[in-house]
Amino acid sequence: MEANASDEYEHIVADVMYIINNIPGPGIDTADFEAEYAVGCSCVAECFNCSCTRGSANYSNARIIDEKLIGPIFECHARCKCRSDCGNRLVQNGPLNCLIVREVANKGLGLFTNKLIKKGQFICEYAGEVISLQEARCRIEANKQGNMMNYVLVVSEHAGDRVIITCIDPKYFGNIGRYANHSCDPNSILIPIRVEGIVPRLCLFASKDIENGKEVTFDYAGGAMVNSVHYLSDTSCLCGSGNCHRYLPHNQI
Ligand SMILES: [Zn+2]
Ligand SMILES: [Zn+2]
Ligand SMILES: [Zn+2]
Repeated sequence: MEANASDEYEHIVADVMYIINNIPGPGIDTADFEAEYAVGCSCVAECFNCSCTRGSANYSNARIIDEKLIGPIFECHARCKCRSDCGNRLVQNGPLNCLIVREVANKGLGLFTNKLIKKGQFICEYAGEVISLQEARCRIEANKQGNMMNYVLVVSEHAGDRVIITCIDPKYFGNIGRYANHSCDPNSILIPIRVEGIVPRLCLFASKDIENGKEVTFDYAGGAMVNSVHYLSDTSCLCGSGNCHRYLPHNQI
């Protein structure tokens, strides 16, 4: 698998290991995790309409195209014949370099930007341990019992008559994305994107312009493809938006 081109972030808290991309965790077979699903395209020029883009471009000027917000998105990769600067390679190049982590009143840490992020720009991945659904259930329950912050995301993708479930926990191993807080009025959206591997990367894209100094947030329960069955938990939401649901969403799994 390809590594990200650059990710210079590190954690400001002690008990988390920095990882650039997902790693296999409990309940996940390493061979399954490393399985590749696509042979790659044989384009010599740009990839607009090839086996990787599935009919139409995913990105335009390094921004996601609105119609692709429902996914699925497959990027070009090492086994494609196109050049490494083909327009269908974005999230694999790593996160924006304008992200900072700092304290938010009552919420612990949050993810902020010190530059304007334009609508449609890729911000960063939400990387962590990929775990089985059973392990995710255990961890969510343990977090709840221990009154601890829950980072586990359960993503359901509907592909024809199949549902692909991916569970990611950045509590112990994660990247800069783990500091993005939930908001009921978010400014970014999480989209599953595949780069060669079968396991999706959960990628944050700006759903509106995000001004310099603003917090980057997403809806833990929302997103077009990220349509897990969910119910509100008993954890208060502190996002402060006008349409706040008052409680954090909680995946009912
Ligand atoms: Zn390409
Ligand atoms: Zn191509
Ligand atoms: Zn390709």
